[in-house]
This record gives sequence, structure tokens and C-alpha cells, in this order.
Amino acid sequence: MKKQIFPIVFTLLALGICARTATADSKSPVTVKPFGTTNGGTKVELYTLTNKNGVKVSIMTYGATVVDLYTPDRSGKLADISLGFESLKPYLTESYLTKCPYFGAIAGRYANRIANGKFTLEGKTWQLAKNNGENHLHGGVKGFDKQVWKANVPEPTQASVRFTLHSPDGQEGYPGALDAAVTYTLTDNNELRISYVATTDKPTVINLTNHTYFNLAGAGNGSILDQQLKLYAGHFTPVNKTLIPTGEIKSVEGTVMDFLKPTAIGLRIKEVGGDPIGYDHNFVLNKPPFGRMSIAAEVYDPKSGRVMKVYTDQPGIQFYSGNFLDGTITGKRGKVYNQYDGFCLETQHFPDSPNEPKFPGTELKPGETYKTVTVYQFSAK
Ligand code: BGC
Repeated sequence: MKKQIFPIVFTLLALGICARTATADSKSPVTVKPFGTTNGGTKVELYTLTNKNGVKVSIMTYGATVVDLYTPDRSGKLADISLGFESLKPYLTESYLTKCPYFGAIAGRYANRIANGKFTLEGKTWQLAKNNGENHLHGGVKGFDKQVWKANVPEPTQASVRFTLHSPDGQEGYPGALDAAVTYTLTDNNELRISYVATTDKPTVINLTNHTYFNLAGAGNGSILDQQLKLYAGHFTPVNKTLIPTGEIKSVEGTVMDFLKPTAIGLRIKEVGGDPIGYDHNFVLNKPPFGRMSIAAEVYDPKSGRVMKVYTDQPGIQFYSGNFLDGTITGKRGKVYNQYDGFCLETQHFPDSPNEPKFPGTELKPGETYKTVTVYQFSAK
């Protein structure tokens, strides 16, 4: 008798445990699954955070990259509002890497441009990799966007995942070994909170941001030109032909850079100039003293009713209107990404700050901790 009961009890117990795990997984605010393997053979995973409203964001360990982001429209219907791909492979292709749109990735060690890839720190000149003509862009040839981060879930009951990366001394030309951590948290208020922390063992420069391309109508559902942008920025930093700031801090008044009142992104885009034409500018946020969280931007899509608000403690925000998208990339669900099909709002220190003594400083010294937070909040009206 005992002999017969034992296996039955054991099987029932095992079934019970499996069923519980499956239920816990499907309801769990954090799930993880394999997402592919890099060309160098490193396995990449995809973490998905879900909140109680069904808002969902997936982030892969390659580049700590936002791969999809589902938020509701005014009728409650969810759509993926971030540009990207359904698997790792397209992120690794030669053609994608040549175009380098940085879909959803963490840009670093220094996001945005450094003129001629050169700067002087404590009397010593450093030459960084040049990967954007003569300039250094988003951390160089193999920036933080192209490295596989380690991931851990600090608290399984919370929709949060923490990515860490060790950047050795001299990587892409930067002085000092840097340890960076980026934590993504999805709150039940439909906020995606990104917090960045870093330390160094030698003086260096740092500027981290997230490079998600948003389209509030849903990624691949046409252009963002009718979406209305409000920027809490009375000034911007004009740039030269290679998008390096001239050093001037200019008022937006009477210019096409004035987004102090909500304005359709496309309304004056043709007058912005540039090659390709469009917005690719750093705005100086109205928020001294720096270091305090405040609202930086709001975008509204009249068609879907989706609203996104951006809060940050950073002094600047790069508004990039997807000018370099040219219809040669096919993203999720087979949708082609044309020019102006997504916008980025990259919270940041100003471009080329290491060479502009008048801009807020970006130096990080041993013993100091770089700490910054940006929140993207989603709603609909
Ligand atoms: C830059 C653009 C660049 C884009 C993709 C943005 O942050 O400002 O000039 O083309 O990133 O690399």
C-alpha cells in the first residue's frame, strides 16, 4: 500500500509545485527569457516588467536596451510605442550597425558628441574613438549600447531590473575603469523610471542616457509629425554642421526651437535645416538648481490620446526627430521605419561639455558617485 501511495503523493506534489511556479510566473511583475546570442557567443536575455495595469516594457541585456514598451491609448488599448526588433539578430547586422540608430539602448560612457573625440582633464589630453566623422558619438565604436550587461532582479515582487556593466580603463579611449548600473522600474502609476549610478577609479567624464525612439501612435504606425511636443526649455545650444555645440546658449524665443507651448513636431520642421533636415538639438531645461527632479517634456498624440511626460534631474534634453531614419530598416511586426517615424527625448548633460567650460561639468572623480534619474510617465486623454 505504502509503495503505491508514495509515487502518487510525489507526483501530485510535483504537479502542484509546477502549477504554482507557472501561475507565479505568468503573474510575476518580472519575467526573463533567452533573446539570442551575440556574434561573440554571449547569451542575451530579455527581461519583461509588467504593472497592474498591463503596461509592459521589455529590456534586453545587450545594451540594456528597451525592446518594446506597451502603453494604453484613450480607449485602454495597448500598443508598442518603441521602435526596435523582435529578436537580437537584427541589432547585430552590419547594416544596422553602420546606420547606428541606437534603438532603445543605453548610450555611454558619454552620450552624444565630443568634438574630435578629444578632451583635456586635469592637464592631460585624452583621445577617444572617432565614430561619427571626426567626432565621438554615444561612447564610441563599441559603446555601452553594444555591450552585454549583467542583470539582476533586486526584488522579485517589484517590476524592476538592474543592469550592471564594468567598463575597463582605456575602453574607447576613456580614462578610468568605470562601474555603471542602470535600474529600470515600472510603477503602477505607469511610470518607467530609469536610474543611473556609476563610479570610477580615475578622473573621467560621464553622461548616460536612454535612446528609445517613441511613436505614441504605435511604432511603425506612421510619422510623429502630428504629435505635439512641449519642452520646458527656454534655451538651447546651437550647433555647427557636425552637430557640435558652438558654446552659445541661445533663447528659443522667436525661433523654431520654441516648444514652450505644445506644438506639432512637424509644424516648423522644414525650417530647422540640417542635413538631414530636422530636430537634433540639446535643450537647456528651465530648472536651476540642477540635480532636482522636474518636468522636462510632454508629448501628446491627438489620434490615440497617448501622453508621455518626461521628468529628470539632468540639465539638458536632446530632442531628436528621427531624421536619419530612411526607410531601410524594417522593425517589429514587419513595419518599415521612415524618416520622422520616431522621436527621442534623451535626458543628458550638454553635448561636448568636456570641451565647454561654461556648460555644467561632466567630470566624475574617484570617491564620487554619479547618480541620475529620468522618469517617462504614460497616460491618455
Ligand atoms: C543624435 C543623432 C544621431 C542619433 C542616432 C542622437 O542622439 O543626436 O545625431 O543620429 O542619436 O545615432
